[in-house]
Amino acid sequence: MSSEEVRTHSGLHVVKGAAERVLGAKKTASVYVSGRHGRLAVQFERRPTEEEMRSVEKEANEKIAEGAEVLEFEMEKSEAEGHFGDAIYDLFPLPPGATRLHIVRVPEWNVNCCNERHVENTLQIGKIKLGKARYRNSKRELEIEFDLAD
Ligand SMILES: [Zn+2]
Repeated sequence: MSSEEVRTHSGLHVVKGAAERVLGAKKTASVYVSGRHGRLAVQFERRPTEEEMRSVEKEANEKIAEGAEVLEFEMEKSEAEGHFGDAIYDLFPLPPGATRLHIVRVPEWNVNCCNERHVENTLQIGKIKLGKARYRNSKRELEIEFDLAD
């Protein structure tokens, strides 16, 4: 992953936290990063309004501007589940037999088990701009695209 992609990938965690806060979307179905472009699909039951998506963008950018710490640590799977419940899991499976998990946490915003590289502080992500949201009724998935704007 290039350093730009580390920023974009870290942006996914912040956008996910904003989507959870604004829409109540808890589970990520898939993620994609290429250069300055990121996309995540979250499980959701309806098409969001434009106003809601503007809110997701605003909340994400406010969190970035706050300069929140991005914490990374390892934990036993059972201990992590005790602390965070199933919030750390996405809809795609863990590697089989995993007993220690790499956890990424933006305090009071997002916690996820994730093996990618991340920035240390959300300020390093820089401003993001959301693209058009796409809702797939058949899959009950909302696709949120964004680009690094700085
Ligand atoms: Zn990650």
